[in-house]
Amino acid sequence: MSGIDDLLAVTGFETDEHHPHIVIDPVACRTCPSDRACVTSCPAQRYVWDEATQQMSFDHVGCLECGNCRLVCDRLFTGADGYSWNYPVRGAGVDYRQG
Ligand code: SF4
Ligand code: SF4
Repeated sequence: MSGIDDLLAVTGFETDEHHPHIVIDPVACRTCPSDRACVTSCPAQRYVWDEATQQMSFDHVGCLECGNCRLVCDRLFTGADGYSWNYPVRGAGVDYRQG
């Protein structure tokens, strides 16, 4: 194993394209009160901050459902406007194939 792409390649996902289980507001993220801790705390590297454009991007596909982002992001933790964290609906989400 050499990196996150290799790890994700052996992990299955049943993607719920139309109902992201984690929602953020990329514009509001510009005024993040949590030092953008989501970026460094996500083991699947789902959060990417572009300093040049001041733009946060997030993709729920590939989320490992560890809950780290919910713990480090005050807005996700409290369910602030534009932010929510839930587990995927039954049958969707990560399917661990190893370990
Ligand atoms: S920690 Fe929360 S508010 Fe801050 S950038 Fe990440 S998702 Fe946005
Ligand atoms: S729950 Fe874990 S894997 Fe999923 S986006 Fe949050 S930190 Fe990343």
